[in-house]
Amino acid sequence: MRGVSVLGLLVVLNGAAAASQTVDCGRLLDVKAGVWRERVTVTVDNGVVVSIAPTGAARGDVDLGARSCLPGFIDMHVHLTDETQKQADALRAALTQDPADLAYRSVAYAERTLKAGFTTVRDLGAPDGLNISLKRAIASGAIPGPRMYTAGTMIATTGGHGDHSNGLSRALGKAKGAPTPYEGVINGADDAREAVRARYKEGADLVKITATGGVLSQAASGQNSQFTDEELRAIAATAKDYGFRVAVHAHGVEGIKRALRAGLDSIEHGTYMDDEAIALFKKSGAYYVPTISAGKYVGEKSRDADYYSPLVRPKAAAIGPLIQATFAKAYKAGVKIAFGTDAGVFPHGDNAREFAYMVEAGMPALEAIRSATLTAAELLNQSGRLGAVEPGYAADIVAVDGDPLKDITLLQQVKFVMKDGVVYKQPR
Ligand SMILES: [Zn+2]
Repeated sequence: MRGVSVLGLLVVLNGAAAASQTVDCGRLLDVKAGVWRERVTVTVDNGVVVSIAPTGAARGDVDLGARSCLPGFIDMHVHLTDETQKQADALRAALTQDPADLAYRSVAYAERTLKAGFTTVRDLGAPDGLNISLKRAIASGAIPGPRMYTAGTMIATTGGHGDHSNGLSRALGKAKGAPTPYEGVINGADDAREAVRARYKEGADLVKITATGGVLSQAASGQNSQFTDEELRAIAATAKDYGFRVAVHAHGVEGIKRALRAGLDSIEHGTYMDDEAIALFKKSGAYYVPTISAGKYVGEKSRDADYYSPLVRPKAAAIGPLIQATFAKAYKAGVKIAFGTDAGVFPHGDNAREFAYMVEAGMPALEAIRSATLTAAELLNQSGRLGAVEPGYAADIVAVDGDPLKDITLLQQVKFVMKDGVVYKQPR
């Protein structure tokens, strides 16, 4: 929890949130017990919740009236340094822009995400260490944004999903040279080890690999297996040495199974999982991060003939719309599900739509909220620190009007956001 302690220190230095403050909630969701606690006051000291008590006669420093308070949400799959755009614009950007162009833009994406109620995110891949620099800027208090856990540069194989030289002309590809493990492209176990160590060196918190083809890469298949068992085992063993968990992008069923057999921690998207894959999830204890939102968005955009390239468009049309049904099947089978959206594939700030998609697919509202709080905190290895409003937890509190257990779409209209005891959004 480097980020929190750094911010905590800064807060102490400038005195902004160091003093004890109180937040009056109309009701507060006890996310573990699954019940509302009516009329409570949360006392926050130095960014941490210290007590919760029935609201007394005196008004709190923040009075949220009748509003419903919940723990800040956690999105386990975002890309804060990029956002969807038309193929032609993306191509021009790739030819004309520098990493700093992306970096400046990401400041607004981070703020939008935080103000949508997402106080913590896992950023699963950006070039040039951009997500790590963004994390530092947020943690230092320089800019508003969610607490970030970042994979640094994602790890792919040559031509795979995440090889950013895909689709370039020969001349451009030659000018850039073949991407190295440091830049996130590996071939073989030695490279795999080097790439994981490079993530350690660049300051990542976890590792992300692309075990199968993907929708938005300039390549033919959205689901072929792109890592060998040997490469996956090398990733797993090296990640363990450095205390990293491994997030695995995978649509195709063979890639999903290989990753689960290698003991990796989460499968992102998981589109074509079958019963055998589900059994492997349950055996290994791995988490499923669905990203229904991204699936819906790319499916919709595939109807626009100009939005994606001719290589991408059919993949978006075929794969995107399947994810919600995969989620329904996985949930019913009892797979552990951590909330994740792949924000960036769709506009940042729309992350909370995922809740509605989950509920629509058969998950009760309370379970959807738990997946974005308790379960996500578990996958971050931050249980007891994040994912609930309780003494000893980081003071990450959001508030909405009405009862989101009855109408989950209320979570798309967050009125109040506190992170680490600092208020970033207030009801008007
Ligand atoms: Zn992603």
